[in-house]
Amino acid sequence: MNWRKELVSSYTRIEDLLSLLELDINQIDALISAETHFPFKVTQAYASRIKLRDPNDPLLLQVLPTSSELVNPLNFVDDPVEEEPFEKDSSLLKKYHGRALLIATGACAINCRYCFRRAFPYQHMVRTQALENAFEQISRDLSIKEVILSGGDPLILDDQQLVSIFESLQQIKHVERIRIHSRLPIVLPSRVTKQFIKLMRDTSLKTSLVVHVNHPNELDNLTIESLRRCKESGLILLNQSVLLRNINNNADTLTKLSEVLFSAGVLPYYMHLLDRVKGASHFEVSDTEALGLEAQLRIRLPGYLMPTFVREISKKGSKIPLAQI
Ligand SMILES: *Cc1c(COP(=O)(O)O)cnc(C)c1O
Ligand code: SF4
Repeated sequence: MNWRKELVSSYTRIEDLLSLLELDINQIDALISAETHFPFKVTQAYASRIKLRDPNDPLLLQVLPTSSELVNPLNFVDDPVEEEPFEKDSSLLKKYHGRALLIATGACAINCRYCFRRAFPYQHMVRTQALENAFEQISRDLSIKEVILSGGDPLILDDQQLVSIFESLQQIKHVERIRIHSRLPIVLPSRVTKQFIKLMRDTSLKTSLVVHVNHPNELDNLTIESLRRCKESGLILLNQSVLLRNINNNADTLTKLSEVLFSAGVLPYYMHLLDRVKGASHFEVSDTEALGLEAQLRIRLPGYLMPTFVREISKKGSKIPLAQI
């Protein structure tokens, strides 16, 4: 099945997923869709890795809307990182030196309940004009050496659209690197097409692909196989995770995550502390607990399998390492 068709056949009704998982709706306090403006959406590939009859499965908890989302502590807000996208109708975010983030699309293949964009304005499609303006801005700013394609999820775009973005960036002399941040190789492994790998390998720009895995169970054989294909073609693969309560906040799980990633050819990059977005407070792990986990991992893992624990703090010039907060 081609990946676009597979994407269209995703679960968008909680009842359908629960019936696949042989779970009774009365066993869990699911929010019905009318109670949230951030819709339920899960690919079949991801759903197939959720254990049957386990309401506490760590993959299920990442995607299932529950009534905990209605709890709203004051410090959880709509726009926790205070990003102002679309300055002058441009889809470029430039906060850090030398790097700029291009919102290539607002769409995603899956809706992770902890996502900072759950309350974001850019759920809609990015207008062509906004992209054009972004290229314009990049070409005027000689300090930009790296462009990060983000979103949403940039791999929602098809290969032809990616080719055209790459071509525009290749024409800008001072741009040396393109990085893609995407969860699609994990939640829809068929998205890793031959054409995509070829594009990443053959461009004159240096490329890297940063995937997003939070729990070792997300890496089933199909996913590992498609990551290995990327690796064997020489792509640089990194992973970012979010530290999430009741999902991956224990040393055994995180140790295994780094080990499984490495066996698939991926190195751990960042372990993000949760962005305090409205509706996600039940996922938060305290800084003290996170520091403890970081210390345990450092003992258990070789240095190269150690993700850097960071938090995004608005108006700062980089992600901030946890130990400095
Ligand atoms: C996270 C982020 C980056 C990339 O940061 P790195 O530390 O280079 O991975 C760039 N721009 C924005 C706006 C970001 O949020
Ligand atoms: S894939 Fe990434 S951007 Fe999309 S909902 Fe999940 S965390 Fe958010």
